[in-house]
Amino acid sequence: MNENELNSPGYEIPPEMQSAVSITTLDRIYNWSRRASVWPMMFGLACCAIEFICTAASRYDLARFGMEVLRPSPRQSDLMIISGTVTKKMIPTIVRLYNQMPEPKYVLAMGACAAGGGPFKDGYNVVSGVDKFLPVDVYVPGCPPTPQALLYGLIKLQEKISQQSIKKVRWYRKEPIQEIPIPVLGPDLNDMRKIKLIKENRKGTCLIDVKASLKDEFDYTLLGYAVGKLVGYGIPVLTGLSRQPTTEELINFCAMSNVPGAVSMFYMPGFTVEASSVEEAFQGDKPKDKFTVTDNDLKQTYKELQTTSGKIDFVMLGCPHYTLKQVEEAAGLLKGKKMHKGVSFWICTSATTKLLAERAGLVGTIEKAGGNVVVDTCIDEPCWVTYYGGVGMTDSPKCAYYRRFKEAIVSRLEDCVEAAVEGRWK
Ligand code: SF4
Repeated sequence: MNENELNSPGYEIPPEMQSAVSITTLDRIYNWSRRASVWPMMFGLACCAIEFICTAASRYDLARFGMEVLRPSPRQSDLMIISGTVTKKMIPTIVRLYNQMPEPKYVLAMGACAAGGGPFKDGYNVVSGVDKFLPVDVYVPGCPPTPQALLYGLIKLQEKISQQSIKKVRWYRKEPIQEIPIPVLGPDLNDMRKIKLIKENRKGTCLIDVKASLKDEFDYTLLGYAVGKLVGYGIPVLTGLSRQPTTEELINFCAMSNVPGAVSMFYMPGFTVEASSVEEAFQGDKPKDKFTVTDNDLKQTYKELQTTSGKIDFVMLGCPHYTLKQVEEAAGLLKGKKMHKGVSFWICTSATTKLLAERAGLVGTIEKAGGNVVVDTCIDEPCWVTYYGGVGMTDSPKCAYYRRFKEAIVSRLEDCVEAAVEGRWK
């Protein structure tokens, strides 16, 4: 039977039966029965869920639409109302629940968060719209939408259901309906439908043979700086490292490689978890470029960053933010010492690290020596702006690179402490 036939049965009702019998299309009766008994799943994600709950309460009488039976199981639901912010942690569960719902099933995105991320769109943990993963049938705008707005959205869904044709709906097709692959939450959210592309984008591009001897985190800052300069936007694969880098060494390497370059990721096969071998890092391909970094290159980098010596006005540490171990090292070096008159000494760190350092008495030691520990700020404000025109010393090539004037000295933490006490650097 073609669609026209299906929708126009062509039977006349004899006059004597007209008040007792109706003839309609299969589509209409099928859709009417479905639209009047949509069972939403009983779950909510954030503030919008409160409005959803309110809609289900007696005042708004969801029973008028045959929708009052909120089901606690996806197996018995045919409507998923996404009411609230969808986080990257939550989306794998949401997709799993959606897959567990039997056909026919619908999705309603309730509120700004579900529709596009809402006020949290830029959050590192937020999915900017559930439609990135699920096929949304109706969007209800608002933050939060009122119960009336949700009801309006449900009426729109009913209208949509009314327009479906039994001949076209996906659940009566011969081909099996594909499940939506569950996104995988790792360091970020991976959409398994795009896994080939993701893998491709994570392929190493440059082989960096490290022949330099790396003693400490300062050497790793120089290495990061040199590598960033060599690879630019590439993905470096570093070989020749003799031991597992410490957390601080890795932090410094990551921060510095993004100063002269834009290194989105890197491999240290055997030490970082992503690839256990060089071949795996390059996914069997050949590197596009090969470089060697020697002690000489690090010395050269070090020289490039030094623009002066002699009297200093301030010392700036903690770019990137100091870890507790680094604050502890600084406090150990400053114990019993006093800053030179006219030298300001700053350490930038996070609020949590400062709290732990305070509890351990480290902040007290630093302050007693005349230093300051500041939290949750960029080095730029307290340092390069306030001391504009002065001579600064830092253990961070990144900090020195972004200075707004010529004079900066870069050296290890112990040298910075020594210079702060002496008031000058040799
Ligand atoms: S849209 Fe507004 S009310 Fe709804 S979950 Fe997001 S922030 Fe909360």
